[in-house]
Order: sequence, then structure tokens, then C-alpha cells
Amino acid sequence: MTPTTVSWQDLTSPELGALAEAGAAVIVPIGAIEQHGPHLPVSVDITSAFEVARRAAESITEFKVLVAPPVWWGVSPHHMAFPGTISLSTATFIDLLCDIGRSIAKHGFKRILLLNGHGGNAELIGVAAIKLSEEGLFVAACSYFALITDEMKAIGESPIGGMSHGCEMETSLLLAVAPELVHMDLARADVRPNRNSYFTIDLRDARPVFYAYDLKRDSNEGVIGDPTLATVEKGQRILAAAVREVASFIREYQAMQG
Ligand SMILES: [Zn+2]
Repeated sequence: MTPTTVSWQDLTSPELGALAEAGAAVIVPIGAIEQHGPHLPVSVDITSAFEVARRAAESITEFKVLVAPPVWWGVSPHHMAFPGTISLSTATFIDLLCDIGRSIAKHGFKRILLLNGHGGNAELIGVAAIKLSEEGLFVAACSYFALITDEMKAIGESPIGGMSHGCEMETSLLLAVAPELVHMDLARADVRPNRNSYFTIDLRDARPVFYAYDLKRDSNEGVIGDPTLATVEKGQRILAAAVREVASFIREYQAMQG
């Protein structure tokens, strides 16, 4: 009998072997442990990615989708000026993802998605995917927020600069999934215009140039955006959109030939 849980770590070795044989897909949620201002816990990015992954996996019934144990840590040098941040070096992070991807593939799983919840990892998950491809292992990689820019544009009340970090979007999402961890009384806006028209600080606002930002330089207290506009309802819409998009991708991914 196929187990009902989607949680890799709760299954037995024979069950996982049988699921690989049956063609199950695997989502690897990836986050960060980093400061998100005075009003949010340091776990925001992994909590968000894990929740999206779990709900997307559970929403698919035609075939089995598993959620691998979450990768708590990410690359967060730009947050190290604030207490609580635990950051990996880029080399460690890429090696970690490659070791995880390699292990999952070794057991026969052919559809693996690295699902990221932290902006600072966004470029690096692609590097891990490229490195694995050198070994003939093909994994997909994306950040959940890159899948829902239209929804964020529709929901956002803040101007550009309002959805970046510990912001209107992330605070809403946490209000929807872990309200007991959100201290709205401590939420304060810190919205800044783009420093250059070729790059952006806002998750809704794709621009062609990448530029690493630094929260010590680019924020007052670790927030970039306007968390005071966050609501549970916005969080539920963001979550639903991300779950829908991830599930839609996984269905197409599963149907791909080869
Ligand atoms: Zn975040």
C-alpha cells in the first residue's frame, strides 16, 4: 500500500525504494536561518519553502510526490551583521545540495526539484543543478517567489521596495502559516527606492542586473519592505498561488520524456 505521508524522513527504507521504483517525484525545500527584522523568526525562509513544498506534494494525487528533509541553512553573508543568522559559504551550500541531489538520484528518483525560499540562494541553486548535470543528473531548481510575481503584483499595496525581506509578502505568508511566531506590534516599514534602474530590491520587479545587497547598508533594522501592510488573507493567497504553481510545474516535469 502506498504510504499517505509525503514526508521523506517519516518513511522506511523499503517504502522509499518502492516509491522510487513507482516513479515518485521529490521536492527538496531549501531555506536559510537568518534575521528577518524584529517581528519575524529567523526560520521564515525554510518555513515558507517547506510549507509550499508540503502542500504542493499533498495536492497531487495522480502520482506520488515526496518532500525531502528541509535544508535549513542557506547563504546569508548579507545578514551576518544581525544576531541569529547562521550562514554557509557558497562552496559548502553548493556541495550540500549536490550531495543531497546525488543521494536522492542514487536511489532511483528521476524527478527532483530544488525549491528555494531565500533570495540569497537564488543564483546558487542553479549552480548546484549545473554541477549535477556534469554527472548526468538533471534536477530542476527554482525559488517559490519567482513563480508568483503576478500574484504578488496583484496583492501588493506597497510601492516597489515594499516586498523584499521581512516585508509585506513574507510577513503575510508567515501570518498564514505560523501566526504565533509573528510580532506585528514590532513590524516597521523600511521602503527604499531602487538604487539603480538596472537592478531591483523588490521581488515583484524583475530587472536584468544582479547586485548583491547588504542589510547593514540597505536597511535600518534588517527589514526591506513594508510588513505593516501584511495580512493573513494576503498570506493565504500567496501560499495558494505558490502551491498551485509548484504543483503545476511538477505535473509537467513528471510528464516530460527522458
Ligand atoms: Zn526571507
